[in-house]
Amino acid sequence: MKVHLCQPDQKKSCAACCGLYNYVDNTREGLKERLAYRTRLFKRVRSGQTTLDEYRQVIRHREDSRRIYKTIYTCEFAGYMDESEQKVGCMLHPMQNSGNDLRDISFYGKDLCEGHFCPSYQKLDEVEMRTLIDVINDWYLYGVVVTDIDFVKAFFQILQDRLGTRISPDKVAHIPVLSNCLLRYFSLKQTWPYRDLSRPRFGKYYFVGEEYNIDKIDYESINAERSIYDAIFLSLASRFQTKEDLARAESIIDGIIDEFCKGYTNYHSDH
Ligand code: SF4
Ligand code: SF4
Repeated sequence: MKVHLCQPDQKKSCAACCGLYNYVDNTREGLKERLAYRTRLFKRVRSGQTTLDEYRQVIRHREDSRRIYKTIYTCEFAGYMDESEQKVGCMLHPMQNSGNDLRDISFYGKDLCEGHFCPSYQKLDEVEMRTLIDVINDWYLYGVVVTDIDFVKAFFQILQDRLGTRISPDKVAHIPVLSNCLLRYFSLKQTWPYRDLSRPRFGKYYFVGEEYNIDKIDYESINAERSIYDAIFLSLASRFQTKEDLARAESIIDGIIDEFCKGYTNYHSDH
């Protein structure tokens, strides 16, 4: 199956490379409000009530355009693709404009926008892509997870090492306990209690002005050994104040892994 990560199905899509999460206010609520307003305004452009220049001006004046990482553009033409606001994407795309491709007016231009495929297309394997698409039906979470290759790969590696087999996306899709475990893991991106809030982060990366760096968890300062979940913790932008915090964090991941492996093995032996 050829997977289209950007627009995989009718239940969600991604617009991360249009800069969606690069706003300082990149909360779910903040982005929802931003996208809904743009979508309403762009409808007026399509119906001829507003010009593209007016659209740009209104957005420029209305929106908080501060970026986390200044080098990455945040495009004002990302909006909702459908009435039910489940899919995000490019409002200049020809499929949104009766065949007219308007992307040349954008910052990157049509060719760059059309030809861009993020590293996840190369790095995620088919099992990872398919499971992710089957399990997450929420654009906000989907975009956050699909672009964090380490977060996905580290978890699948651990699961598959433990099970001694490649995970079957069909099994995950058919056994609720398995898809629930995976969704619980992916959702940690939003619920993780040990998240470092002291500076802007995308997973393991943190930003200072025009610069970015890769974080390191300081195990020494809490008298602990490097965790086997180090890659996962980095992707979750973790900061641990005490050894007990680290132990609690490990037990959260342990719990999900144990439940998944148990469910997977039981299914194996019953079928
Ligand atoms: S970040 Fe990747 S998956 Fe998301 S829209 Fe861009 S190319 Fe597609
Ligand atoms: S023009 Fe469309 S595809 Fe290009 S960056 Fe903007 S929203 Fe994304």
